[in-house]
Amino acid sequence: MAKRIKIAKTVGELHKLLASAYGKKKIGYVPTMGALHDGHASLIKSSVTKCDITICSIFVNPTQFNDASDLDKYPRTLSADVKILEAAKCDIVFAPSVKDIYPKGTKSKLKLRLGKLDKVMEGEFRPGHFKGVAQVVKRLLDIVKPTMLFMGQKDFQQFTIIQHMINQLNIPTKLVVCPIKREQSGLAMSSRNVRLEKHIKSRADILHHTLLEARELLNLGYTPKQIESYAMKGFKITDFKPEYFRIVNGNTLLPVKNVKKEDYIVACAAVWAGDVRLIDNMILKHPQS
Ligand code: AMP
Repeated sequence: MAKRIKIAKTVGELHKLLASAYGKKKIGYVPTMGALHDGHASLIKSSVTKCDITICSIFVNPTQFNDASDLDKYPRTLSADVKILEAAKCDIVFAPSVKDIYPKGTKSKLKLRLGKLDKVMEGEFRPGHFKGVAQVVKRLLDIVKPTMLFMGQKDFQQFTIIQHMINQLNIPTKLVVCPIKREQSGLAMSSRNVRLEKHIKSRADILHHTLLEARELLNLGYTPKQIESYAMKGFKITDFKPEYFRIVNGNTLLPVKNVKKEDYIVACAAVWAGDVRLIDNMILKHPQS
């Protein structure tokens, strides 16, 4: 029979559960906003194989939503989430309240030197988003104090910024990035997919297919600019509206003009599918390949 997962609803309850583990056991941590799917479960499974204790937090962080209606509509499915976590052999679910994470309206004092990392792509279309993400991840890392932090490649810009934060603040946690889990159609799994209307969802694989095409076109010698404009045109179909399709350096997230042998290149895209905003990405080229 599966071991019952422990639920901590406050920082105090979590620390009680972890008291005997600190300094003795490898603690793996997966931060999420809930409405869990197989993508999240893959992060949990990776933590379970690498660590002695796995914690998953479920916290819909208000400070990273720049659109109040997106925050309102964000799916909240705690009891289904607990079942998924139990099946993935997660040990503890940490589901704090906003008051617990931001006591008495705490203001972020976090100062990071991120250069352009938080200004491009998502930063351009969701102003303030990464300030909220960095704030909550720092707060959660301070609370959980994990040995390893597991995040998904699905949010490429997010994990890049968090890696910078870990380096800059000398946080003693190792970031492990896990591959993107996709539905059979190729659509990247996302908590927002449940809000896609059926007739739109059936065409939402256009994101993945365009990324695959971009990889092929890059191999054939097309320039990033040509590929970007081809992709943006392709997204302009009924019900869909692209925000960006960028081919960038995977470390700096800055545009790539001419591809060199040593370049690490990733394509990142954001597209509205009806009233649901989807993001996806693909590594187009590793250095030297
Ligand atoms: P979220 O609940 O959307 O904030 O995501 C929590 C974590 O799960 C983040 O590190 C995401 O990058 C990761 N994640 C979300 N979707 C996927 C996916 N399809 N495959 C792998 N990881 C994912």
